[in-house]
Amino acid sequence: MRYHQAVHEVPILFENCEKPTEESGFDPTVGGLLPQTVLRKELMIPDLPERDVVKHFVNLSQMNFGIDNGLYPLGSCTMKYNPKICDEIVSWDTVADLHPLQDPSTIQGALRLMHELERMLCEIGGVDAVTLQPAAGAHGEYTGIHLVKAYHEANGETRREVILPDTAHGTNPASAAMVGYDVLDLPSKDGCVDVEALKSAVSGDTAAFMLTNPNTLGLFEKNVKEIAGILHDAGALLYYDGANLNAIMGKTSPGKMDFDIVHFNLHKTFATPHGGGGPGAGPVGVKKKLEEFLPIPRIVESKGIYSLESNMPRSIGKVRAFFGNYAVLVRAYAYIRMQGGKGLVSVSENAVLNSNYLKERLKDDFELPFDNLRKHEFVLSGRLLKKNGLRTIDFAKRLLDYGFHAPTIYFPLIVDEAIMIEPTETESRQTLDLFVDACKSILKEDPELLHSAPHNTARRRLDEAKAARDMIFSWRTYEEKQESSRA
Ligand SMILES: *Cc1c(COP(=O)(O)O)cnc(C)c1O
Repeated sequence: MRYHQAVHEVPILFENCEKPTEESGFDPTVGGLLPQTVLRKELMIPDLPERDVVKHFVNLSQMNFGIDNGLYPLGSCTMKYNPKICDEIVSWDTVADLHPLQDPSTIQGALRLMHELERMLCEIGGVDAVTLQPAAGAHGEYTGIHLVKAYHEANGETRREVILPDTAHGTNPASAAMVGYDVLDLPSKDGCVDVEALKSAVSGDTAAFMLTNPNTLGLFEKNVKEIAGILHDAGALLYYDGANLNAIMGKTSPGKMDFDIVHFNLHKTFATPHGGGGPGAGPVGVKKKLEEFLPIPRIVESKGIYSLESNMPRSIGKVRAFFGNYAVLVRAYAYIRMQGGKGLVSVSENAVLNSNYLKERLKDDFELPFDNLRKHEFVLSGRLLKKNGLRTIDFAKRLLDYGFHAPTIYFPLIVDEAIMIEPTETESRQTLDLFVDACKSILKEDPELLHSAPHNTARRRLDEAKAARDMIFSWRTYEEKQESSRA
């Protein structure tokens, strides 16, 4: 174990600076740039030399762990290495300097790029039409469930229920509930959908069934066509959670599995770095019968000219300003064009190979529920750690000391002490072997060492519950909290 994270005692930029100042030498009213009426009297920005600001942020970045540092096997979240050329392309002024209110005649290239991206996603997803507006996977689900509602209402029906399996990502029930549906949680059988239970749960009140396939255990649903038949026979729609397409691209598609709606997470599968809540994109694809309900405006092409069409009376309306997160769309476009069809197939094959390789090398050291071939991810149980008074979280924290980010833990909920590993296609055999060595060596260590891990990182174990419940997003909120606690 040779890993040590840098530690810098970096004050917040505001602390560094005696007095925020307006004297930047820049007058925004010059040249009519901004009218007096919109100018603020006081701008709370610290006045510091560029050199200090650069030092501040570089130091902070060294105290962080990111995908560029090393393996980040976060199951379901797909943290894979993203080619830097995609970032370079979005920094070009032909991309970065566009304004969403420009006349369509001046942004023909951008419209064409988005139109072509829609077509590519149609092919990958096996669907007929795609909207690029949603800004994240959860937002795609929310949009998709609105489409479900619009579809049934157009047929003169009010259906009240959305069914999903207990392996579903937490955003699935949340999205269905936000659109106003009752959510029915279906217990799984051997890690997959219990077809008999599904049959008895489905009724004329079922609006949709939401499924992730391969599911969050990394298992491919064997009976997916039968499942689709059960739902369609009852007049319900099938929603495919395509947040992770890493296992199936070019092999099969939600459309081939008879799904009606799918969302894609461009920030997981298609080359946008994510985490920390950065911008994402969750385009939604649909079969023909749902196209008329998609958000407006639609990008349409006629004789090589691209324009925006908003005259769609049955559209669910807008779900986001303008076109969605354009830079994320450009990265995905570049990535798909670079890979080509064959490249995407090999992405899937290598993601699945890497995952099964790790699974085979680790399954005897932990416990592997449901012993089948996995797709892009697999879930171990850390139950055996309990005999040493340890839990999965202790193991996960100790991995950081070896220079590996922890896998996803405690999800899916149906596996006790779950450890959910997704190596992705971008990691080498050598890296995977080092990860296995680290896991095996941790299991032999003094439990005390795990209890108090991590030791080699810039910060020791954090109070994660406090971080999630007591949120402080800015210096201003921090100061306000300090003041109110003094009062
Ligand atoms: C990540 C993920 C989501 C949600 O996507 P966000 O972009 O984080 O909103 C939904 N379902 C699955 C299976 C996921 O892995």
